[in-house]
Amino acid sequence: MKGNYQIIDHHYDVIVVGAGGAGLRATFGMAEKGLKTACVSKVFPTRSHTVAAQGGISAALGNMGDDDWRWHMYDTIKGSDWLGDQDAIEYMCREAPAAIIELEHYGVPFSRTEEGKIYQRPFGGMTTHFGEGTAQRTCAAADRTGHAILHTLYQQAMKHQAEFFIEYFATDLIMDGDTCRGVLALNLLDGTLHRFSSHLVVLATGGYGRSYFSCTSAHTCTGDGMGMALRAGLPMQDMEFVQFHPTGVYGAGCLITEGVRGEGGYLTNAKGERFMERYAPNAKDLASRDVVSRSMTIEINEGRGVGAKQDHIHLHLEHLGPEVIHERLPGIAETARVFAGVDVTKDPIPVLPTVHYNMGGVPTNYHGEVVTLKDGNPDHVVPGLMAIGEAACVSVHGANRLGSNSLLDLVVFGRAAAIRAAEIVKDIGASVKPLPEGASDAALERLDRLRYADGGSSTASIRDDMQQTMQRYAAVFRTGDTLQKGCDEMQRVYERFGDVRVNDRSLIWNSDLIETLELENLLGCAITTVESALHRPESRGAHAREDYTERDDKKWMKHTLSWMDATGKVRFDYRPVHMYTLSDDVEPIPPKARVY
Ligand SMILES: Cc1cc2nc3c(=O)[nH]c(=O)nc-3n(C[C@H](O)[C@H](O)[C@H](O)COP(=O)(O)OP(=O)(O)OC[C@H]3O[C@@H](n4cnc5c(N)ncnc54)[C@H](O)[C@@H]3O)c2cc1C
Repeated sequence: MKGNYQIIDHHYDVIVVGAGGAGLRATFGMAEKGLKTACVSKVFPTRSHTVAAQGGISAALGNMGDDDWRWHMYDTIKGSDWLGDQDAIEYMCREAPAAIIELEHYGVPFSRTEEGKIYQRPFGGMTTHFGEGTAQRTCAAADRTGHAILHTLYQQAMKHQAEFFIEYFATDLIMDGDTCRGVLALNLLDGTLHRFSSHLVVLATGGYGRSYFSCTSAHTCTGDGMGMALRAGLPMQDMEFVQFHPTGVYGAGCLITEGVRGEGGYLTNAKGERFMERYAPNAKDLASRDVVSRSMTIEINEGRGVGAKQDHIHLHLEHLGPEVIHERLPGIAETARVFAGVDVTKDPIPVLPTVHYNMGGVPTNYHGEVVTLKDGNPDHVVPGLMAIGEAACVSVHGANRLGSNSLLDLVVFGRAAAIRAAEIVKDIGASVKPLPEGASDAALERLDRLRYADGGSSTASIRDDMQQTMQRYAAVFRTGDTLQKGCDEMQRVYERFGDVRVNDRSLIWNSDLIETLELENLLGCAITTVESALHRPESRGAHAREDYTERDDKKWMKHTLSWMDATGKVRFDYRPVHMYTLSDDVEPIPPKARVY
């Protein structure tokens, strides 16, 4: 090794990596249960991407019309195109109303109805009576719901005296055989290294939107948890399912929430036609995101896009009137003004489908424990490791997530992980064992190697190469040919990473080094995504193959597992979809053909 490193050791019951909605809910839940808990975050907690969530959080509260958690469960399973695990979906939808009331009591300032109840707006794919009516199920704090929730959760974490390591970058898991024993992190400010050992590590590191050129997610969404798990020899699950949000601002990529259409906004093509009426006669503009994104792409591909290049679509909310816009969608009005130069009370917003959410991630059960396929057991629990939030694949979203189900996933499974962690740590009973000799050597060597990387390609140029490749070859519509090209190109990009150059050799706020570590994580996510997409010859949810347009339940109603080795080669296996429920209150829902 070239560098000298000062290493500081810490021992905790639990280390949570990530301070977004999922990480914070887990952190204070664990602290509340008396576990010695530390939360490590590369950004200040309230800067996590959760802060940007706009539209809301779902729960069958029934404040604005009839509702039932079983209808929510049905919608989520249908939205997932029958790839979601029904035990986990039951758990989430049943727990949802209590989770919202809990958030309200913690202090989330939800918007209100006239009578003072929590306001709920319609969202895509959310219905009543098993698909018959439109549900108003999405609880909102205007169009800044994530902001309200994240700040409230951080306050709760403060209240319960959880310990924070802020602006610390976790580089790698510390593994002891198959067991996770801790994590290595770099303090960005002073360059000290911190070796955390614990009974449990919880990955709550969010998604990997930044593997694409145009996405709605923050620059920090670099799939670090997925990268760490892949390097630890663990598989990713269902990486081919990438959600494109129909309404990213054309050019900038910033999100315009689905709540706009929930409040009555609609899309038009160059002829001024409300084309969604043709594609989804019932749900129209509120069909699920995969359906709307594909319809928009077809309109553009067939020459009916708007603008000089006919390459985007218009989203209208002028007709809603300034009052509704001001009260319910103030953030959107601002985003449209700043990023599209549009006054939404007068003109439509130019929009385009944009990468928004990763359904795939680290496979877990509904307690948040990481699972893998071992000795024929598809639900083998990896000792010492949990994953929650967008980093995880529980899988409640299956092949396609319904809007407002992610914020719910964060709080429900953040809480579930805390409950489970308390049980596990109590069972162990003892204090944290010392780490075996040399346990963090591999992590340290990797850091040192990249710090002194002396090749011919800058991190930024390799990252751009990856983002353009993914944007082009792993897009809304896919074919075997384009995906094969994408796989080949990604192997080329991965090889280029072997020739990366880091210019800054210091350890003090070395953004060059951090972006390089992030890029390696993104590369693992990108490669498993495009390889998994090629591997699945069917269309399901967000995965739309033009060469295999039908869903193939006989062969492909199963989760893909993908492992990647150090050379970038990917190996596949499968886990069955959980087609069973947890209780007798509800029957499993067998697959049905899709009717929009
Ligand atoms: C613009 C936008 C709007 C959205 N709107 C909605 C909505 O209205 N409703 C809804 O349900 N969903 C919405 N979503 C989706 C939802 O917000 C996200 O899926 C969710 O917030 C992810 O939360 P998380 O806790 O998993 O991760 P994040 O909030 O992304 O947090 C990740 C955390 O991990 C930390 N971290 C990452 N890597 C490291 C590392 N190497 N070392 C240390 N720390 C690390 C970060 O510092 C951060 O604290 C939206 C998403 C976007 C992008």
